[in-house]
Amino acid sequence: MSSHLLLALVPLVVIVALVRVADDWLRAKQREQRRRARRERQAAYRRYLHSPHWQLRRRSALERANGRCRDCGRPTVSLEVHHLTYRRLGREHRKDLRALCPACHERRHRRRPSPLERLLDWLTN
Ligand SMILES: [Zn+2]
Repeated sequence: MSSHLLLALVPLVVIVALVRVADDWLRAKQREQRRRARRERQAAYRRYLHSPHWQLRRRSALERANGRCRDCGRPTVSLEVHHLTYRRLGREHRKDLRALCPACHERRHRRRPSPLERLLDWLTN
């Protein structure tokens, strides 16, 4: 390879390196924005769980369950109210809420994304 050709490649290498740095910076910035948005959603959710509105819906779901877990049917005094969906958060329908024993509640939240889902998530974020 001639030295002229090598010299011509230098700006190209510099440009590629700069683009990579800029891309890394942008991705870090987007990651931070997503993190902040997630923290805000979590804080709003915690505030909601303390609201009288939620307490009313929660109590109503517990009354409907009549002391039994709606998944396993076992009688328990420590029922928890599970959101089947967060789509109507703050204006839940009866069918969105399900009173569960702690073990069944934990089981409902245990599902982890598959490796393929995690890979797709990583590739697209
Ligand atoms: Zn249960």
